[in-house]
Amino acid sequence: MRDTKVAVKICKEYDTDIVGTALKDGFDLLGGLNHFIKPSHTVLIKPDIYNCTEPNVAKTTNPNIITALAELIAKIGAKCIIADSPKGDFNSSTLDNAYVKTQMLQSSNNGHATLNTNDKFSVITNPNGEYCRDIYVIDAINDADVIINVGKFRCDKSLGVIGCSQNLFGLIPGKFKQLVKSRCYTLKSYYNYLIDLYEALENKIVLNILDGVVGCEANNDPRILNNILIGENPYSVDATALKIINQSPEDSLLLNESVRRNKFNFKFQTLGDDIEPLVCSDFHYTTFLENIKSGSKSSFKREYNRNQKRPIINSKLCKGCKVCVSTCPMKAIEMQNAELGEHAAINYDKCISCFACLHNCPYKIIKTKTPIKYNAINRAIKKSLHSKQD
Ligand code: SF4
Ligand code: SF4
Repeated sequence: MRDTKVAVKICKEYDTDIVGTALKDGFDLLGGLNHFIKPSHTVLIKPDIYNCTEPNVAKTTNPNIITALAELIAKIGAKCIIADSPKGDFNSSTLDNAYVKTQMLQSSNNGHATLNTNDKFSVITNPNGEYCRDIYVIDAINDADVIINVGKFRCDKSLGVIGCSQNLFGLIPGKFKQLVKSRCYTLKSYYNYLIDLYEALENKIVLNILDGVVGCEANNDPRILNNILIGENPYSVDATALKIINQSPEDSLLLNESVRRNKFNFKFQTLGDDIEPLVCSDFHYTTFLENIKSGSKSSFKREYNRNQKRPIINSKLCKGCKVCVSTCPMKAIEMQNAELGEHAAINYDKCISCFACLHNCPYKIIKTKTPIKYNAINRAIKKSLHSKQD
């Protein structure tokens, strides 16, 4: 597990010098930037440019933070590359557009960092992945010795604080992101997919920085928060962010899953500035469950999209040959013993509906079915949306 200490720095404006001082002070609290970066390193800076918006919208990492960070890295003598995959296709024209809109182009103008133009992708492997072992990522990762993950302090109506841990999702190229989301039936499986990704890169991700000078609330309003958070562990940085918006980290499903998988623990320590004066008790933060209760259409749609066909194994007809177990790329099938003998059973938290098992079962006993509970949810959703429109 990466060290869970979090450096908290009050920072009230995006002036590059002021941001640079806050970053340097934060790094010093954690042992200094040169504790993490060597002169021979190529450092991949991973900003949050997913939304591809201007900095004043506060939904992307502010370019001055990236400029200041690149300057500090250059002083050590290391090389810097700025790389991310915004939403939409992953190609040179999407990247060019994102760099202009988010002003990352200016961040590279001082010569301390270059912008990634490689629009290829590759596969990284996490042999211990619970939900995915082979993960598609942007190819630029392979050229980097270390990664500094620079997230934005923003909230999503369904996913809560995007922060540093969910910022890693941007390493998945272009529209693969939508495919992953649509194939993850539950938030639990989505969060664990992100933890699989983090685990695959854990040794490379040396620092996580959260741009909370101006954050963004779940209702899309920018919100002055006056902070920059830095830590080795993305989950402790996000837990600190939750405390700042007066939410309990212990209530976060993502953080609980990261604890279960030994990536984080709730006994983390903050260093530097006191977080009490930064706490913002009326920050608009909507959780998925609250959304469901309040009838938000966006989260209903998200749930609705998950209403996909799934493989169903008829345990009475299963011959126990285990072909499906070895075929499943997600390790989602296990053998179970029952009165009628050994049979295969699917863990739907892991299944991504690729149907490899269905096609490979020599006895053709795997069928597809839409899960009843999702049908029930959909009926409730349609009824709710219908009554809202009335
Ligand atoms: S559809 Fe079958 S092979 Fe594919 S992930 Fe689900 S259980 Fe595994
Ligand atoms: S491949 Fe078919 S018969 Fe063999 S264990 Fe799987 S479901 Fe059962």
